[in-house]
Amino acid sequence: RAKQQHRGSSQYFSAAMGTDARERFKLLKGLRAGFEERRLFVVYQPQVDLVSRQPLGAEALLRWRTAEGQFVPPDQFIPLAEQSGLIISIGDFVLRTACFQLKHLRDLGYQDFRMAVNISLAQFRHPLFIQTVKAALEDSGVPGTSLELEITESMAMEDISLVLRVLADIRSTGASVAIDDFGTGFSSLSQLRQLDVERLKIDRAFVREAQSSNAGSTIAQMVVNLGRGLGMRVIAEGIETEEQCQYLQTLGCHEGQGYLFAKPMMADQLQLWLESGKGEPLQ
Ligand code: C2E
Ligand code: MG
Ligand code: MG
Ligand code: MG
Repeated sequence: RAKQQHRGSSQYFSAAMGTDARERFKLLKGLRAGFEERRLFVVYQPQVDLVSRQPLGAEALLRWRTAEGQFVPPDQFIPLAEQSGLIISIGDFVLRTACFQLKHLRDLGYQDFRMAVNISLAQFRHPLFIQTVKAALEDSGVPGTSLELEITESMAMEDISLVLRVLADIRSTGASVAIDDFGTGFSSLSQLRQLDVERLKIDRAFVREAQSSNAGSTIAQMVVNLGRGLGMRVIAEGIETEEQCQYLQTLGCHEGQGYLFAKPMMADQLQLWLESGKGEPLQ
């Protein structure tokens, strides 16, 4: 039975990865139905201070569990949602869910806790984007200053006038911005320094290679120095070992996220994790 399920799920995944238009269409149909049937949900992965190991916040990550009980990874369905425009309503759902969860944690006393939400290019470009951010903040009752929006490096390198305009809109809500997967795109350093962003996230690939390869280590060092030099906070994603953690700390990286600290969790698990002393309620 387990074997059959396994085979079933790998077929599902390969369908998503394939270039077959019919299979992609099937998956998109499934995603639409899944969204309507509330099979999409949000999990939360803590972000910690690398020195004190205290939680600073969490990143909201989307999950899709199909009617058959299989999980489809976001790397496969987010691009589909993006191409089809479905990401606009799905993205709004993630933003609102994350804000309401943040409100709940704030009410428990985690006043300085920050919530990071991934934003896709289609959302970023959408004329009503900033209105949906404002509505999510107002309806949930959390201050904009406790929300962070993660945009990828390639989004930050879009047309400069668009990027500057949207970043100014975001700033007007009080929310901060992190540049995700940094090091994987082609950044124009002159564009980067024009952007007023709080955080650089070192991509997991460089964390993995930070100690095993010279190139990985050079890039990790460079990103930390670049971020620090530009007055940003630097966070490393995908920290899995104590060695990686210590190495990044030595480089001057401020924050971290990864399985070493915690995996992405359901909302109630995150609360338990925080209550178990991983993070004292502040004040
Ligand atoms: P991301 O934003 O770079 O998120 C970090 C990914 O690294 C997550 O994968 C997380 O589960 C994974 N990760 C964190 N720590 C570790 C670790 O120690 N080891 C390993 N092996 N993995 C770790 P996930 O949840 O599968 O998400 C993949 C990508 O899908 C995200 O990358 C993001 O680009 C996209 N995504 C997820 N949720 C959303 C969403 O709500 N909206 C949008 N637009 N994109 C999303
Ligand atoms: Mg992210
Ligand atoms: Mg990332
Ligand atoms: Mg990444």
